[in-house]
Amino acid sequence: MAIKKGEVQCINDEILEKLSLKNRYKFLNYNLMSFLEKEHLDFLKKAQKFFIGFEKRNNISHNEDFYEWIPEIGKEGLVTRLNNFEILDLNYEPYGFTAEFMRILATDFFDPQLAMGMGANVLAINPLLVHHEDIEIRLKVLKELVTGQKNGCICITEPERGSDAVHMLTTSDQQEDGSFILNGVKIYQTNGPKADWAVVYAVSEQNSGNTMGQFLVDTSWNGWKVERINIPWTPRIYIGKETFTNLRIPPEYVLGKPGQGREHLFEGLNLERLGIVILNAAEAWNAITHAVIYANLRKQFDREILKYQGVGFPLADLWAETMNLTLSALNVCQMVDKKVKQYGALPKEFSLALMATAAQLKSISAKLSQKAAYECANLMGGAGVCDNTLMQDLLGITRIQEIGGGTRQIQQYIMSLALRQIFKLL
Ligand SMILES: Cc1cc2nc3c(=O)[nH]c(=O)nc-3n(C[C@H](O)[C@H](O)[C@H](O)COP(=O)(O)OP(=O)(O)OC[C@H]3O[C@@H](n4cnc5c(N)ncnc54)[C@H](O)[C@@H]3O)c2cc1C
Repeated sequence: MAIKKGEVQCINDEILEKLSLKNRYKFLNYNLMSFLEKEHLDFLKKAQKFFIGFEKRNNISHNEDFYEWIPEIGKEGLVTRLNNFEILDLNYEPYGFTAEFMRILATDFFDPQLAMGMGANVLAINPLLVHHEDIEIRLKVLKELVTGQKNGCICITEPERGSDAVHMLTTSDQQEDGSFILNGVKIYQTNGPKADWAVVYAVSEQNSGNTMGQFLVDTSWNGWKVERINIPWTPRIYIGKETFTNLRIPPEYVLGKPGQGREHLFEGLNLERLGIVILNAAEAWNAITHAVIYANLRKQFDREILKYQGVGFPLADLWAETMNLTLSALNVCQMVDKKVKQYGALPKEFSLALMATAAQLKSISAKLSQKAAYECANLMGGAGVCDNTLMQDLLGITRIQEIGGGTRQIQQYIMSLALRQIFKLL
């Protein structure tokens, strides 16, 4: 049942039943089945089966603290599928960006705020996967995060340095024994107050991106203080403001020495943005699925409202745009997977081209998900804006997607730079 327990029922039993997770998954699958490889469709269905059972078993109303669910989700291998994690003896199949797309679709339909929160865990996992250097503690942390036993966050943004992330103020002072001392303040970290582990960026010299380092932090260490920020559009996600006061980082926790941090930061950005693109596509599908099911059942003036052009036509347009986004995002995922399988990692030129592509898809998808959530809620009337379904979660979460991972203007800036670079080649 899609209703949030304890609240007043506004939608009738029949429609609520049809808005069940199982039915919404079915709608999605009918849309995607012709375009997916069998292994990915099978994985999507397997993940969906897990979430249907999980929701039922735990009688979930989607008002709960979703962080408590992550260990069980991790056991099922559904925290991330970007890698097979052979290094941790997990050997996930299938894996890669297309598999990650499937994982996020299944997770988002179940609970959009959970999907975003787990996304930040993945952002902490990625740098550890690339920079573990076979060091025991790093592999241990990697395993804890991948299997959902622990949560992670990444700390880039600062109160005075948002879009201009490279010119950081948080400092890292190297000590004689190879350890570093961190001082400074970070802000807006997804999962910050729930994180057991954090990947933190800091500079040896304030405002000098060339001196940036990358550090793994155990949030139980002295010198780490976190406060929870209230972001009313995503009330169940814990977002933090962190203050570091003489926070000591032992040498084996230094993922990138001063000078390496900036490159490490940028290598993660394309992947982060593509992850956001997938989240946006999933949110748009989730909203459209709610509205399509609702509009096919809700009657006014003795006809199903979908049959009125004022409802059916805008829904059809949103459906077309979302399918369009999905097919292009899938194409990019498949290209990335192919390159990684072929070369072991993404070739440099491809990563450079991907920067503009990720910015293009991120900006278009963020706008689309917000429009889809608002328009679908609107087409559902009161049922779209009350708290009986996940529409309220979708309305809130889609409003922040243009900001995280680089704002709309920063994506436009990246794209306009790329246009200049291409012009110079003529
Ligand atoms: C829900 C949420 C989750 C987040 N999660 C994380 C996280 O996990 N880790 C993390 O480190 N950070 C995180 N962030 C921070 C996010 O990346 C920043 O909010 C973002 O980069 C913008 O920085 P800012 O908020 O300081 O805005 P500012 O940079 O101050 O921007 C304000 C406005 O000015 C515009 N602007 C700035 N510079 C330019 C320019 N050169 N040209 C044109 N316009 C410009 C911006 O586009 C924006 O409209 C999160 C943010 C949110 C809202």
